[in-house]
Amino acid sequence: ASKADARNKLRVFEPAMLHARQLRNQLVGELREAIATDQLVLYYQPVIELASGKIEGVEALVRWNHPKRGLIMPDEFIPIAEETGLISELGNWVLKNSVEQLRRWRSSPETGRHNFDMRINVSAADLQRLQFIEDVRDALTAADLEPALLVLELTESDIIKGNELDRYTLASLRKLGVGLEIDDFGTGYSSISYLRRLPVDRVKVDRTLLTALGSDPAQPALIAAILQLIRACGLEAVWEGVENAEQAEHLRNTGCISGQGYYFSRPLPAAEFTERLAWQDIWPG
Ligand code: C2E
Ligand code: MG
Ligand code: MG
Ligand code: MG
Repeated sequence: ASKADARNKLRVFEPAMLHARQLRNQLVGELREAIATDQLVLYYQPVIELASGKIEGVEALVRWNHPKRGLIMPDEFIPIAEETGLISELGNWVLKNSVEQLRRWRSSPETGRHNFDMRINVSAADLQRLQFIEDVRDALTAADLEPALLVLELTESDIIKGNELDRYTLASLRKLGVGLEIDDFGTGYSSISYLRRLPVDRVKVDRTLLTALGSDPAQPALIAAILQLIRACGLEAVWEGVENAEQAEHLRNTGCISGQGYYFSRPLPAAEFTERLAWQDIWPG
């Protein structure tokens, strides 16, 4: 046995470790169950066109409504789903349900006047499955929606690390007509040449680039430079994590097309979001 094995054996006797592992194993089993029994819930957050205040998209964000532990946030269970292969089932659940929700909003007399697309977060593992392309096609057909009404958000590290299969999947999705967007731009190993070459339409700049720069005298120049870079690559910019009017105003004046964040709305459950859509046309309203 290797040194690592010996170390692992020793660790098993640590009560805290044992407990953590048991808890994790339990969570894996429960997550499988959760997907099958609809314990997952989607929250929705608007993406706003800064010039008009109109809603241009909605991002679906998954939560787990655990029967005993209450609402669990995605950062706690997405990594587990990715490590255990449950991510494809979870991703498919999100895909089907979000697209179906968009169909309902578009066909309801209360909310149908809006014109926005649905944006979902896609995991690197999804690009490794040929079936994913079929899943996307099937979900859109079932909801009778044009492919352009679905936008897939991918983190830059996921696409940049990509292999041939990833590239094939991305090209196929693009041919199908769905929108592709880079998420969390600026947090990974961003490279200008990739930004130019990737088959995407839009770039979502990570919120940390707004907050970390908050007190930095260079902040305005840096924001302008990031936006110029994105525009020079022929892409549209969304800035995430917009939390107040000053930030929204500043981004708008600097030529940022769209924004998303608590200032416009927190992510809301479907019923609450439907209510807002029914009476609200301009965000933050
Ligand atoms: P993300 O895609 O970058 O989503 C943005 C996160 O920022 C969300 O956290 C959202 O609630 C939060 N946020 C929105 N506006 C603001 C703001 O103004 N200020 C601050 N501080 N935060 C804001 P959430 O919902 O906890 O999701 C975390 C991450 O989990 C997401 O990051 C995404 O990577 C992942 N995720 C969520 N849903 C899914 C899903 O259905 N599938 C996959 N594969 N990943 C998902
Ligand atoms: Mg996202
Ligand atoms: Mg993001
Ligand atoms: Mg982010």
